[in-house]
Amino acid sequence: MELYKKSAHDLHDLLEKKEVTAVELADAFLERIDSIDSKLHAYITKTADTAMKAAKKADKKIAAEGKIPFLTGIPGAVKDNICTLGIRTTCASKMLDNFVPPYDAAVMDKIQKENAVILGKTNMDEFAMGGSTENSAFFPTHNPHNAEYVPGGSSGGSAAAVAGGLAAWALGSDTGGSIRQPASFCGIVGLKPTYGRVSRYGLVAYASSLDQIGPLTKDVTDCANILNVITGYDEKDSTSVKASSPDYTKSLVQDVKGLRIGIPAEYFVDGMDKEVAESIHMAINDFKAMGAEIIDISLPHTKYAVAAYYLLAPAEATTNLSRYDGVSYGERVNGDDIVSMMTNTRTEKFGSEVKRRIMMGNYALSAGYYDAYYLKALKIRTLVKEDYDKAFEKVDVILTPTAPTTAFKIGSMINDPLQMYLQDACTVPLNLAGLPGISLPCGVSSSGLPIGMQIIGKPLDEEGIIKAAYTYEQSKGFYKNIAEVTE
Ligand code: GLN
Repeated sequence: MELYKKSAHDLHDLLEKKEVTAVELADAFLERIDSIDSKLHAYITKTADTAMKAAKKADKKIAAEGKIPFLTGIPGAVKDNICTLGIRTTCASKMLDNFVPPYDAAVMDKIQKENAVILGKTNMDEFAMGGSTENSAFFPTHNPHNAEYVPGGSSGGSAAAVAGGLAAWALGSDTGGSIRQPASFCGIVGLKPTYGRVSRYGLVAYASSLDQIGPLTKDVTDCANILNVITGYDEKDSTSVKASSPDYTKSLVQDVKGLRIGIPAEYFVDGMDKEVAESIHMAINDFKAMGAEIIDISLPHTKYAVAAYYLLAPAEATTNLSRYDGVSYGERVNGDDIVSMMTNTRTEKFGSEVKRRIMMGNYALSAGYYDAYYLKALKIRTLVKEDYDKAFEKVDVILTPTAPTTAFKIGSMINDPLQMYLQDACTVPLNLAGLPGISLPCGVSSSGLPIGMQIIGKPLDEEGIIKAAYTYEQSKGFYKNIAEVTE
């Protein structure tokens, strides 16, 4: 079997058994990138030289130590909104076209300590605003299962890289679904941790009260292992949670007997693909057959979540993106005076979706509208959270579709922002409530596109959702069926 098709944990075992070297692994993935990234466009920046250096260092470590940390020598990719010391970090924006961070994000520090091999920085919707990766200022990314389709977004490059065998694992960020929805569209596993579980230090901010970094992987085992590497309290992130990090690999056990799984009717939204709904219902039956207790629940404020998100996230983005003024950060386009310089810079260097959100955010925050929009959205956020609190008195986890549809065709929705925003109906409520959620494959549509389901957990209960996801994955083995990718 080709090395690029293997999971990170299989590659880790091969390295420890000395059946392969880290340099051979890096070579295999770099060759794969050379041969198919011109078709998928998963990467914005490729870092072959630093990857090779890291691989050589990893081999020395393996020779000296025998037993190695999980990511040592394992080739992976990082979303281009996570700061990487000395490596260009663009957020897929012309504004940051030439930005080379002078420091590593906290997650990068942790990954570098393990001696991982970073193959490059992945494509995304500009500043993580979008759900298809078509909003990248550079180029769209294509879905490895069918190149006419989007990979989802905004972490579409990371998802396509893992699904296409262009990286063994990847990091993404999730503000309203940007890890889970692309994982679902590309037939892989993606986990958004509880807000505060993973440090946001060095993640370029989109909407700070919602952003979280998390793994995109071929299977649940890799997901648990990488979560182990990146979680933990960080004093450099003021919203970091002071909770000890469990060993998530201990949750890789097959057992859902007596697990109370809530099914919220509100997540089976109008306009949902029939095949998606069918797959989820089949998964519910599978869980039942494995001994779980299925309980119907209601999360009545779900229908307001998308509207609240598209007020709160743009409001925060407006503030966060004000730093790109042609002076403090990023590119500058000159003008006759300071005002025209700033205007020219922001007009030329921001894409249209970013501008739309800056305008929405400013509107929602402006005097006279603040109470009607921003404050109201905050109240809805509380109600959404309270819905979950009540539900979790009766259930241990909640199971839903990850997205209402499978991947859609490139270009089919780009001129209809409202339609695009409605894609986020099943994912944004978790971000509003700060809850952890995992997306994993649960079927394939008649046109051969992956279908994903989402398992939602109580705050800080990543263990619960990993255990449920692992049990399902091991019993169905879906990931083995759909990791085959068209070249
Ligand atoms: N699709 C959502 C948006 O456009 C979510 C993006 C994200 O999670 N970064 O905002």
